[in-house]
Amino acid sequence: RASAEKFEFQAEVSRLMDILINSLYSNKDIFLRELISNASDALDKIRFLALTDKEVLGEGDNTKLEIQIKLDKEKKILSIRDRGVGMTKEDLRKNLGTIAKSGTSAFVEKMQTSGDLNLIGQFGVGFYSVYLVADYVEVISKHNDDKQYVWESKADGAFAISEDTWNEPLGRGTEIRLHLRDEAGEYLDELKLKELVKKYSEFINFPINLWASKEVEKEVPADEDESIDEEETSESSSSEEDGEEEDAEKAEDEKKPKTKTVKETTYEWELLNDMKAIWLRSPKEVTDEEYNKFYHSLAKDFSEDKPMAWSHFNAEGDVEFKAVLFIPPKAPHDLYESYYNTKQSNLKLYVRRVFISDEFNELLPKYLNFLMGLVDSDTLPLNVSREMLQQHSSLKTIKKKLIRKALDMIRKLAEEDPDETNDKEKRDVEESSEENEKKGQYAKFWNEFGKSIKLGIIEDATNRNRLAKLLRFETTKSDGKLTSLDQYISRMKSSQKDIFYITGASKEQLEKSPFLERLNKKDYEVILFTDPVDEYLMQYLMDYEDKKFQNVSKEGLKLKDSKTKELKESFKGLTKWWKSTLASDNVEDVKISNRLADTPCVVVTSKYGWSAYMEKIMHSQTL
Ligand code: ADP
Ligand code: MG
Repeated sequence: RASAEKFEFQAEVSRLMDILINSLYSNKDIFLRELISNASDALDKIRFLALTDKEVLGEGDNTKLEIQIKLDKEKKILSIRDRGVGMTKEDLRKNLGTIAKSGTSAFVEKMQTSGDLNLIGQFGVGFYSVYLVADYVEVISKHNDDKQYVWESKADGAFAISEDTWNEPLGRGTEIRLHLRDEAGEYLDELKLKELVKKYSEFINFPINLWASKEVEKEVPADEDESIDEEETSESSSSEEDGEEEDAEKAEDEKKPKTKTVKETTYEWELLNDMKAIWLRSPKEVTDEEYNKFYHSLAKDFSEDKPMAWSHFNAEGDVEFKAVLFIPPKAPHDLYESYYNTKQSNLKLYVRRVFISDEFNELLPKYLNFLMGLVDSDTLPLNVSREMLQQHSSLKTIKKKLIRKALDMIRKLAEEDPDETNDKEKRDVEESSEENEKKGQYAKFWNEFGKSIKLGIIEDATNRNRLAKLLRFETTKSDGKLTSLDQYISRMKSSQKDIFYITGASKEQLEKSPFLERLNKKDYEVILFTDPVDEYLMQYLMDYEDKKFQNVSKEGLKLKDSKTKELKESFKGLTKWWKSTLASDNVEDVKISNRLADTPCVVVTSKYGWSAYMEKIMHSQTL
């Protein structure tokens, strides 16, 4: 088209498209789910805008917030249309090609190793999955602020945008037309589409309608010529029958009305989903299977992995809301990278079933960003701007309850795990399959999200003790397994007052540390902290259950030893000499200690100073 403006895809997007086009991935179905999810997002956006400005919805069909799927078997076109917010020309250019999202390169990288295409939606590039099944795609879109445009691409590195002067006006919204490849003919089959929508899009909150064919029987005037033909054939086929019967048949034929029934194909919209809102139902009525599916649709994660746990509850009182929280089976690819930047929560906020936002950072503290879920409140006002809502006083109450419920859910995960119990007998008795399934689930949680718990201890003073209970670590006596503070305390020797720990880069390195010599000999257990974040953690975690933490490489380690006093006396001269020789800006003090067994001396950090390992961390950060 002469008026078309041509653009090149951003390089990473182009690479992504190459991968998709050449993919041998067998599950190409995912494109439909991605398109429906985009349509639903666009509908959410217009519905949200309409809360404060009714005008944006327009009138007539434009007010119907729905998704429509149509097939053209002859031309091999599958089209998906929504009456959502639509895209301006600028939106089309940016969103579908020239601006690569942060997830693009991460996804490309993943696909080149062993990635699962199924996760495409999580990386924010779901749209491009259309090229799994189509070799030519048109996106027709009308936004309230602009004219109607057509975006088109054959995935050859370029796309074009033209003002649309030939298609029917959409009113508002977007229609995606997929010109299916020959191998993708199955997506022209209505049954297949119905099955896919049921499978992947049952939790979409807008009606999804299919332009479905229907065979109807219809009475039409009987065609004279045709009936003669029929008579002839019946005569020839019954040549051996005797004449009498033939006459009777003829007589009957004449009595028949001059019409006949024919099958005819008509089309009508067929609703494919029932718009389930699981969170409005009583938790008792929702099955595990339903929760699993709901999680997958929320998380855009369609792998086989089930969420580790969920919590579905109904909060009553001053602030009423319903919520479902999930612990995902795995940490998202960028959880701890963007944590330090501006990662948003993964909670969707609804007010009276209307989707408001999934970018509300006011609902959960940062350290719980790994949770997925949804909050639907009847208390929050509907007709105010997002900014006003963000400042609404009820949000504080909601947040407090959500944190409490989330921590309860994690605690239960540990309590139900047979591996977590100290009681060996109990561990051996519980052999049912359900128990087996729960075996090791907390260690799995810890491996994926342990860091979040540690960040929580640092950030959330109110819940510090609750979070400390969830902490796991290895010790000099844990035999390669994870253990908890409660378990540590239960094993403490009667002579031991403080909780001993040491920090370092690795377990192997720590195990050789001279600081542990004496403690090991005396059979004291020492926590081995090997994650850089542990250093920060221990600056916030001062005590637990009335016990203080003592870094064994720092000043203040007290071990009962009757000989210490004597030794101090007899070596007084030597320690004095050392101190004056090393000068005061090198060391603060020189002391006789009972912490060593074989090593003659060791450098210890002062009580409030950085540990040696912390010095190392700080040094590497300033480089
Ligand atoms: P994501 O949905 O995660 O943002 P996609 O690749 O699926 O990523 O879509 C890219 C962007 O294109 C969307 O963020 C949205 O801005 C735009 N978009 C896609 N489909 C539609 C649609 N049907 N209506 C309006 N905008 C759309
Ligand atoms: Mg999408």
